[in-house]
Amino acid sequence: MTARLLDPRPHGAEQAPPGTTAVVVGGGLAGVAAACVLAERGVSVTLLEREHFLGGRAGAWTEQLPDGTSFEMERGFHAFFRQYYNLQALLRRIDPELSFLEPLEDYPIHGPDGEEQSFHGLPTTTPANLITLVRRSPAISFRQLAKVSVPRALEMLTYEAERTYARRDGGDAGSYLDSLNFPPRARRLFFDVFAHSFFNPEREMSAGELLMMFHFYFTGNPEGLVFDVSKRPFSHAIWDPMAEYLASRGVDTRLGVTVDAVARSQGTRWRVTAGAEAWEADVVVLGLPVSGLQEVVEASPDLDDADWRDEVAALALTHPFVVWRLWLDRPTEPGRAPFVGTTGLGPLDNISLYQLFEDESRSWAERTGGSVVELHAYAVDPETSEAEMRRLLLDGLHRLYPETAGAEVVDERYLVRRDCPAFAPGSYARRPGVETPFEGVAIAGDLVRLPFPSALMERATASGFMAANAVLAPYGVRSEPIRTVPPRGLLSWLPSGRG
Ligand SMILES: Cc1cc2nc3c(=O)[nH]c(=O)nc-3n(C[C@H](O)[C@H](O)[C@H](O)COP(=O)(O)OP(=O)(O)OC[C@H]3O[C@@H](n4cnc5c(N)ncnc54)[C@H](O)[C@@H]3O)c2cc1C
Repeated sequence: MTARLLDPRPHGAEQAPPGTTAVVVGGGLAGVAAACVLAERGVSVTLLEREHFLGGRAGAWTEQLPDGTSFEMERGFHAFFRQYYNLQALLRRIDPELSFLEPLEDYPIHGPDGEEQSFHGLPTTTPANLITLVRRSPAISFRQLAKVSVPRALEMLTYEAERTYARRDGGDAGSYLDSLNFPPRARRLFFDVFAHSFFNPEREMSAGELLMMFHFYFTGNPEGLVFDVSKRPFSHAIWDPMAEYLASRGVDTRLGVTVDAVARSQGTRWRVTAGAEAWEADVVVLGLPVSGLQEVVEASPDLDDADWRDEVAALALTHPFVVWRLWLDRPTEPGRAPFVGTTGLGPLDNISLYQLFEDESRSWAERTGGSVVELHAYAVDPETSEAEMRRLLLDGLHRLYPETAGAEVVDERYLVRRDCPAFAPGSYARRPGVETPFEGVAIAGDLVRLPFPSALMERATASGFMAANAVLAPYGVRSEPIRTVPPRGLLSWLPSGRG
């Protein structure tokens, strides 16, 4: 299995006609990916971003610790998987060797009572990776394996978008996982953490989406289940150089601008407004999260296709998540992993030890003898109070890393946000794609439907490239190549896959 290339117009014109203009709304990965391609094709681009920093959910901003040290706070730890081909292509524009990334060879999952599942050194090909994983896992024996539902489990290897979504999008991921009949310990270690990584609770997530994720991250991923992390804060590694790159391509980036609406202007042109300000352009890309997109579309009667408006209105946000970064007065024990997924420890989903991989935290830890710990909880119950959530997360940390139990918290940042898209059962068919019914307008972001398997940062970036390709199509301009994992599962030809 190798990466596939989608390149609808490889031999088009190098540049758009002189004077072509674009407004890109949203400075997250999706908007920035679109802005890069448009600017590289000679379009004069204005990029409008609500916050005072680029990057959206992968952004970073400067804050201060009580001792006066300034640091870059982020929206949370991010894993850069090796099959994120389009994200890599975007990032190579600012760092051709991707030197800011460092491999994390393992992604261990820890449960209570010392349970551990390692993914280290698995073969990269399917089914060898699956066989090795099951053979060496203490969570499942061959006797228990015999009880697993083979036809259901085979669906992980027979992914094919149309068929998989037709069969499974109506059901929820939790019920699908139950139907596999894995022993409870193996289900927890293999699946619960994975399902939660998409911010949606299992019972409210489409089983079709879950199967796509299995294919994208594991059974259809030619690069193996390893990922890289950023050695530097995202602002230094990505967004400062990206802002420079965009400026060098003539992009006019405006931060602190909240766009209200898009309206038709003279001829086929569009007008984008933010308060009293307005920008005219030939093409518009909306790289917005769910609520931002819905607000803009709601306020834009000229985007007047009723079906499309219904699709946008039907998008939804999933539950909130919590990111809690703690500066502790003592080190963690030697030998701890930089990142672990957790299961069975209340709402705690993962723990990152920033001093083990990120330069800023490493120097703080070396100077003070402390450690920088980040705890994540996804798909949290909105009824849980902050005090209770803090208690539960600390409890999970202390159980897994007892050396932190007596630590003094030197400083902390506790973020609760709700801006990740829901992938509810039945949502696939009505999810809007990149192209819209309006010539010159496209949407991008990790909320859109793509015609190949993709997720999260990679979906945001791929959709940004595709949005630029879509609005440039009428000008016959060469497309930005899009790379993807193989679109179908290894065993998609099996009759059970077709049944
Ligand atoms: C805690 C956490 C951990 C994560 N971990 C991972 C991971 O390990 N791996 C992974 O692949 N992904 C991860 N993700 C997901 C990843 O961050 C997102 O999928 C990706 O960043 C989404 O990019 P986007 O451009 O689609 O949206 P966003 O990043 O949300 O960008 C949209 C932008 O639009 C701006 N905006 C909104 N409204 C307006 C308006 N009216 N006018 C102008 N601008 C507006 C916003 O400020 C924002 O900058 C994680 C996310 C979180 C929150």
